[in-house]
Amino acid sequence: MKIIVLGGDGFCGWPTALHLSAQGHQVTIVDNLVRRVTDIELGAESLTPIAPIEERLAAWRETRNTPIDFVALDVARDYDELEALFRDLQPEAIVHFAEQRAAPYSMKSPRHKRYTVDNNVNATHSVLCAMVEAAPDAHLVHLGTMGVYGYGKAKGMRIPEGYIDATLHSGGVSTDVEILYPVDPGSVYHMTKTLDQLLFLYYAKNDALAITDLHQGIVWGTTTEETELDDRLVNRFDYDGDYGTVLNRFLMQAAIGHPLTVHGTGGQTRAFIHIRDTVRCIERAVSTPPERGGRVRIMNQMTETHRIRDLAAMISGMTGVPVEHLDNPRKEASENDLVVANDTLIGLGLSPTKLSDGLMNEVVAIARRYADRCDRSKIVCSSRWVKPLAAE
Ligand code: NAD
Repeated sequence: MKIIVLGGDGFCGWPTALHLSAQGHQVTIVDNLVRRVTDIELGAESLTPIAPIEERLAAWRETRNTPIDFVALDVARDYDELEALFRDLQPEAIVHFAEQRAAPYSMKSPRHKRYTVDNNVNATHSVLCAMVEAAPDAHLVHLGTMGVYGYGKAKGMRIPEGYIDATLHSGGVSTDVEILYPVDPGSVYHMTKTLDQLLFLYYAKNDALAITDLHQGIVWGTTTEETELDDRLVNRFDYDGDYGTVLNRFLMQAAIGHPLTVHGTGGQTRAFIHIRDTVRCIERAVSTPPERGGRVRIMNQMTETHRIRDLAAMISGMTGVPVEHLDNPRKEASENDLVVANDTLIGLGLSPTKLSDGLMNEVVAIARRYADRCDRSKIVCSSRWVKPLAAE
């Protein structure tokens, strides 16, 4: 298949592009490399030394004798170029990772909030518009988040895959309908993902676009079969307070002997997936497009759920590094349960990688290998969800 990977230089996009190429697909990466600019803004580079994009692509060509094309383009702003690219390439699938993906970064300041909304909503809308004009037969696979469901309402319930049956009551009449699961975003970043859902709903209905929205859990791990082939193919490993996701952050903290920083009680339960399963799930989603002219296909892309304090205790037990509780910068329930349906991906043949499979040690080993690149002052989150009250 001809596949465009939007945001293919990022943490999920790079290993996905390599995996799709390794499966024999013809891959074109589109990225404006903004994530590398954000590294400079935050003064926090990936723990692993990621090579420039040209070097990454050359390494892949040398290793596998398979080219991956690269187009530098801003998906949110360079609309004409995006449409022209879709028209020229006629992709069968478009995988869309090209969004600002960190909740803490989205809450840093009015500029960061506005950038996240402008970038994410415009990127998704431009992709949909350009598909209608130039690639209506392509299948769009978007990376959404489990965070659209929120983490408080579904007490004792299994969170379904995107939709829920509801009965509407009004004016003495009741109607049974299937609706999108009521959204409950916990940050400006998560809010953009809920807005994406409406854009998908509309374009699937109005223009019969084939769309799969993957509600992904928090990704952990860093290497895949393909990124391990050459040092120049190494994937990002974010550890800073804005971009470092919780489990990788704990594993990195353990590797350098920094206390495992738990926000609040650590009673938050979250969904997780290993990066190796991310790339496999996307490959399966790409090769099984949904019917067009109907609803958006939504899959929960996660393999297990864990309470944050249990994860910290597990890693502390593994490594002897103590746990430290910090104030929670987020506005969220201090404790929640989370039971999630993931039947579609399991039905498509995914055999989940679990925390118990020994890969946590591999992440600790990688973090130890690059420990001298870590700036300890960047580890703790500095963003705040709610402005502190002015002193009286
Ligand atoms: P990332 O920041 O590492 O990668 C995103 C890539 O998109 C970067 O290379 C960036 O330069 C590019 N990009 C951003 N805006 C762009 C634009 N306007 N035009 C062109 N390129 C642009 O993030 P990631 O962790 O790889 O996440 C990818 C997607 O997966 C995101 O949409 C994110 O919401 C979703 N997701 C990630 C996680 C996770 O734990 N990493 C969890 C759930 C969902």
